[in-house]
Amino acid sequence: MPKRVLITDYVWPSVEPEREVLAQIGVELVVAPSGDEATLVSMAKDVDGILTCFAKVNENVVRAAEKCMVIGRFGVGVDNIAVETATELGIAVTYVPDYCIDEVSDHVMALLLTWNRRIVPLDRSVRTTGWGSVPLTMRIMRLRGKTMGIVGFGRIGRSVALKAQAFGFDVLTYDPYVDVEAAAKQGVRAVDLQTLLRESEFVTLHTPVTPETGSLIGRAELEMMKPEAFLINCARGALIDEDALYDALTSGQIAGAGLDVLVDLAPPPNDRLFQLDNVLVSPHTAFFSQEAVLELEQRAAGEVASVLQGKMPDNLVNRDVLSHPNPRHSLSAV
Ligand code: NAD
Repeated sequence: MPKRVLITDYVWPSVEPEREVLAQIGVELVVAPSGDEATLVSMAKDVDGILTCFAKVNENVVRAAEKCMVIGRFGVGVDNIAVETATELGIAVTYVPDYCIDEVSDHVMALLLTWNRRIVPLDRSVRTTGWGSVPLTMRIMRLRGKTMGIVGFGRIGRSVALKAQAFGFDVLTYDPYVDVEAAAKQGVRAVDLQTLLRESEFVTLHTPVTPETGSLIGRAELEMMKPEAFLINCARGALIDEDALYDALTSGQIAGAGLDVLVDLAPPPNDRLFQLDNVLVSPHTAFFSQEAVLELEQRAAGEVASVLQGKMPDNLVNRDVLSHPNPRHSLSAV
C-alpha cells in the first residue's frame, strides 16, 4: 500500500503542487474536509505524514497518528503543532522558515514609501477635489540621509537593510543575538534599543515573539521616538503594546504606523487603530505573492517527502528526535 500524507488545511487555490511533489516518490495525498480536532484525529490514524497550515495538530491528533513519521508546517511558526509530543513519539517536525523574505521586506518598503509619499491621502484628494486643488502642505521627507532602525537582524531584517541602503538610509539595528561586526560588514551600525528609537525616522520590527520581546515597544519606547517617526510592524502584533501605540498616534508623539499584524489575529473593521488617518494597515499579507506561496507548497511537501525517504530535511524543528531510541523516522543524526 502506498504511503499517504494528510493535508489538514490550506489557504491557496489547490494542492496540485503538493500532490506533484509527493507523487514523484509514490506518496498519495489525502485532504481533510475540515481542520477540526475530531476530523483530524480520525483521519490521522493511518497516514505516514501530515502537512498543516493553521489547523491545530494538537497532542490528541499527534497521538492518534499511530504510524506518522513526519509533521510538516506550511510556514514559519510551529505553535499549532504539539512539537513536544511529536518528539516524544519519535516523529520529525519540519517547517519552511524562509520562503517569503523578499515579500516581507518589499512590504516594509511599500508601507514606508506609501506613508512618506502620502499616496493614500493624495489619491483620495485627487478623486474628491480634483488634480490642481491638492495643496502640497503635508510633510514628505527626503529619505536619503535619514535613519532606519531595524529591530531584529535576522533573515527579514537583513533583507530590509539592503533595500533601505539602496534608498540612501543610514541603517541601525538592535539585536542582542547578532554581533556588531556581522552587522558592520553589511554597513549597519548595531546599537542599543534606546539609541535606535531616538535616532530613527523609521523603525521596523523583525523579531519573533518571545518572553523578552512581548510588548517590546511600549509606552516608554514610544516616548523615545521622534515626533516624525513612523513605526512598521510586519512581524507579530504582540511586539507592540497597542494601548500605548494608540495613545502615541493620537497625541502626536509619533507620526504614524504601518501595521501588517495586530495583537488580535483577525481584528474587526471597527478596530480603533483603523479609524486613524495616520495608520496604514494590511491584513497579514506581507508574506504573499503567487511565487512565495508556490515555493511554500513545494518546499513544505518536499520536506515531508525527504523524511519519508529517510533523507535529512533542510529545516528540522525538533533535532532531539534524531536521538530518539525508537524513532518513527529513519533519519540519522550525522
Ligand atoms: P529570524 O529568526 O531570521 O530573525 C529574527 C531575529 O530576531 C534574529 O536575528 C534574533 O536574534 C532577533 N531577536 C530575537 N530576540 C530579540 C530581541 N529580544 N531583540 C531584538 N532582536 C531579537 O526571523 P525572520 O524570518 O526574519 O522573521 C522575523 C519575524 O517576521 C518573525 O516574527 C516572523 O514570524 C515574522 N514574519 C511575518 C510574516 C508576515 O507575513 N507578516 C511573514 C514571515 C515572517
